[in-house]
Amino acid sequence: MGGRLGANAIALPGGTIILTDQLEALAKNDDELAGVLAHEIGHVEHKHSLRQLYRAFGMAFMIGVIGGDSGQVVEDVVANAALLDTFSYSRSFETESDIHSVEVMMKAGRDPMAFVDLLDSILKSHDLDPEKSDTGWLSSHPGNKDRRASVQAQIDQIKAAQ
Ligand SMILES: [Zn+2]
Repeated sequence: MGGRLGANAIALPGGTIILTDQLEALAKNDDELAGVLAHEIGHVEHKHSLRQLYRAFGMAFMIGVIGGDSGQVVEDVVANAALLDTFSYSRSFETESDIHSVEVMMKAGRDPMAFVDLLDSILKSHDLDPEKSDTGWLSSHPGNKDRRASVQAQIDQIKAAQ
């Protein structure tokens, strides 16, 4: 899996998480992949994909989804939306998922910042400078300096509460 998705991670409404081969190839260690996975699980747990679909397609579509056994249809729609670069999470969804990742990784005794390093690697693979790029990564995941700062703040907050 990859192609137009490039190095990417996507959470589908049914809970399926796609990590592309290109993403795995960029990861320098298991913590980087585990952190991205925990971030994507955050999107699933907060039902971000469904909320995003609702925003994009409206009530009639959601009634069709809820009324029918259309899990596969939904997954196809989301996969296509991702391919068309129209499936981008809002900044607040990203922050919620980042917090989820930090919490899970710290609980597991793993490096909670590792996934941000992987985002840097992705930016660099697109010839973008992580220090300067604001919306650099593929549309679903803006990765940047601000994100590193906010993840660090979350880590500090959890440490202070321990
Ligand atoms: Zn995300």
